[in-house]
Formats: sequence, C-alpha cells, structure tokens
Amino acid sequence: MDNWLQKRTQLTPQRLALSFHEQTWTFQDLQQQVNGLCATLQSRLSKHGRVAILGNNTPKLYFGILALHQLGEPIVCLNKHLTAPELQYQIADAQVQTILTTQKFLPQLQAVANVKQLIALDQLKWQPQANWPAQPTELDALASIMYTSGTTGRPKGVCQSYRNHWTSALGAELNLPVTESDCWICAVPLYHISGLSIVMRSLLYGMPVRLYEHFDPQAINQDLVHGRGTIISVVPYMLKKLLAKKHEPYDNHFSYMLLGGGAIDQATLDQCDHHQIPVIQSYGMTETASQVVALNPADAQRKLGSVGKPLFPVSLKIANTKQSNQIGEILLKGDNLTPGYLNQPQRLTEKTTATGWFRTGDLGYVDDEGFLYVKSRLAELIISGGENIYPHEIEQLLNQLPGVQESAVVGKTDATWGSIPVAFLVTDQSYSLTKVQKFLMDKLAKYKFPKELHLVNHLPKTANGKLQRVELVKWLETNE
Ligand code: ATP
Ligand code: MG
Repeated sequence: MDNWLQKRTQLTPQRLALSFHEQTWTFQDLQQQVNGLCATLQSRLSKHGRVAILGNNTPKLYFGILALHQLGEPIVCLNKHLTAPELQYQIADAQVQTILTTQKFLPQLQAVANVKQLIALDQLKWQPQANWPAQPTELDALASIMYTSGTTGRPKGVCQSYRNHWTSALGAELNLPVTESDCWICAVPLYHISGLSIVMRSLLYGMPVRLYEHFDPQAINQDLVHGRGTIISVVPYMLKKLLAKKHEPYDNHFSYMLLGGGAIDQATLDQCDHHQIPVIQSYGMTETASQVVALNPADAQRKLGSVGKPLFPVSLKIANTKQSNQIGEILLKGDNLTPGYLNQPQRLTEKTTATGWFRTGDLGYVDDEGFLYVKSRLAELIISGGENIYPHEIEQLLNQLPGVQESAVVGKTDATWGSIPVAFLVTDQSYSLTKVQKFLMDKLAKYKFPKELHLVNHLPKTANGKLQRVELVKWLETNE
C-alpha cells in the first residue's frame, strides 16, 4: 500500500492535519514539511543503525516521526524520563545509531548516549518540498520499536508492525467512528503507544490532531470548552487533573475522553458522570499497539468497573475457564498483536499458548454479557491461605482514608499463610495499622486486611508514572 501520509495527502490535501498553539498545518503543509525533512535527513542516516526519537510533543518531533516512516525507517521510541542506565540499555538493545531530538535534550543525551549522532530537529534547517519518492508501506514491515513501561521488570522492546497500527486504528474506528468535526487532543507522549496511535489514526482517518508539548490541564480544559478539541486520550492521573481544574462546561461538540493505561477509581468515574463527561475506559498494552477492549459511554453506568468488550479485530478469552464470571489470565488473538519482542524471540513463544493465544499476564473475568473486568496482574496477585487477594481492591478503599494521597498493597512471604497483604500509604496524617483495619471493617473480608502498614513519602514509579509494586516487594525482603 502507499505511504500513509502520502495517501492521506492525495485524498484530503486541504484538511487540517495538525495544530499547535496558534500554528496549523493541512495535510499538504505537513507533507511538504516532511518531504523537506526527508531530503535533509536521508544522507545523514546510517544504513546500519536504527533511528530513535526522544523529546517533547513538538511539531518538529511529529514531522520527524512521519519523515522516518517515509524514509522506510522503523522508529525506536525512547522515553525522555528514562534514567541514564535505562537509556543506555535501550539504545544498545535497539542498536540505535541516531537520535532525533531537540536542543533541550542534547546535554542529557551527550552525557549518556553512545550513538553516532544526535540531531536536534529545532536546529536543523530544511525547506518545504513538493515531492518525495517514498517506498510503498509493507503491512508486515516494522513500523516502531517501543519499550513496555517496566512495571513488572526490565522494559521489553516490542516490535510493532504497520499491520498492528492499521488494525488498532481500524478497531477504534469501527467502535466509535470519528466524524468530520472531530479533533483529537494529543497530550500523551508521542513516544508512547497512546500518542503514536493518535498520529496513525490521524493519517488513516484524515483527522486533525491538536498537539500539546506538555500536559497543561488549564489550557486543555479551555480547548475543550471552546471546541478546539473533541476527543482526548488520558491516563487516570490526567483525567483527575482535568476534573480538578474544570470550571466551565465543555463545548457541545465534545465527544469523549479515551482512558487507558491503568485502572481508575469509582469516585473519579462518578465525578465524570456528574460533569457529563463521557469516558471510554479501555484496556490495552504496548504489545497490542493501543486499546483492544473498550467500554462505551452507553454502558458505562451499567457496567461500572468494566473495561468493556473486545474491539472488532480482537478475540479474547479467559484461560482455563468454562463459564462466565470466572477469573483467569486474559488471552488475546488478533492482528494488533506484536510479531515479537526485540532480540528475544523466545519470549513471545513463552507468552503464546499451544493454540496461538497471547498470554497478557493480566487477570480478569468476562461477565454474562461479554464485558471484561481486569482484576490485577498475575504477578501481583496475593495468595493468602489459599484465598486470592487483588491489591487494587484494597488500594481503592485505602485511598478513601482522609489525607491519603496514594496507597499500594503487596504480598509479603509468610510462613503460616504463604503470603500476607502489606499496605504502604502516602499521607501527611499519622495512621496505625489498627486504625486502618478499623476503617476497613464491614468494607472488606478480614483475610484481605493489610497485616502490616508502612507510612512512606512516595511510591516507586516507572518512567510512565506507573506504580512498581515489585520494588516494594524487594524492599520488604531486604528490610526484614
Ligand atoms: P511491563 O510489561 O514492562 O511490566 P507494563 O505492562 O505496565 O510494563 P504497558 O504495555 O505500558 O507496560 O502497560 C500495559 C498493562 O497496563 C496491561 O498489561 C495491564 O496490566 C495494564 N492496564 C492497561 N489498561 C488497563 C486498565 N484499563 N485497567 C487495568 N490495567 C490496565
Ligand atoms: Mg506488560
């Protein structure tokens, strides 16, 4: 098939493609920028090493992503929040020779990156150019290499093909079609699947993207109030911030917030309902090139806590269960799924059943009507005296304690019970285990009560801001 940007430009050259503050680009403008950038980059890119991107969500980085695809280069997506050793590992693992970035990140990269060249896109000069002879896009070619969040261990390099992105965009569109008046706000990082999938959807649907360099809740709320964006991708933290800063109703054309990345608490969903903000809860992972399951607003109230039904291109089942409502590992099939992990071919084989289902490592159940509920990760399940305990259920309650900002529950090895739940609280108030247990009385079965309590200043998080329970487990082991 034709290169996606070129095809889109042929189809709808005058349609708005991108806006950033007051600047706008039609698809034709975008195409000309990308052509010019390709001409400048072509001679500089080594044929032997891969090219990565690292930076804020700026138009130049956006052009850079599209230019790499037009040059037939897969994009290695690097997270700007990585520490030096994490960056070094990913750069070596993906055999990166060039990093497209901006001036701001040069000192950080010069200090750590063992690469042939760093190109600051905001220093590079190029002229818009009418044509560029792009190669056709092979659906099974590698489009991007993206590392998982590293919530359960070292991040894994996930290979994402054009077919993965195509299927992902198709699944989303068949579920909730984008209209001519829609504009997708992208304040999630372009180097993460939540952001990159918006770029892909824009090309395939012909849809404008409103790009944000940083997540700015006030400015985004203003955009949503004045109809400058109708759809926005958010993670739980962003949704909470937008709600906290919202003082006016959103424009009539406001469509929905696509929520992904992790579980959300009931209180926040109730607040969205109160403000009449449709929220599409979704479930997906780096390995599935964005959402594979989504809950539409029409079912949101009736199916509270669910992440919805599998999208059209996706098959889903729960391992080793015969009936609905039984908890087990969530298994997936479909063209969204990665062709493999970089440099670790055995890993996908290990994660695939004999009949070709991908083991997600997540636990959940499907109800009688086919709605999926995600309970926890397999690795985070606490089995105490033969009973299964899901940390999230306890954390949701602990978060309701006055003055508690965050909480985490993990299992600790115990001679009698096998494992016992231990709670960590981030709070400025003083809490004792007895006080916490008293609060949980009548709310939670006693075997799920935390048996140990630690008051802490902060919780360990990944570069994407996800809670790393595994670090707390390690801490408990070393502080016995
Ligand atoms: P790693 O694989 O390195 O441990 P990670 O799994 O956190 O990191 P991602 O691919 O960014 O890396 O995240 C996907 C995971 O996020 C899913 O497997 C699931 O555990 C969790 N997740 C995603 N959406 C939801 C959701 N709606 N509810 C609960 N958990 C979710
Ligand atoms: Mg994972």
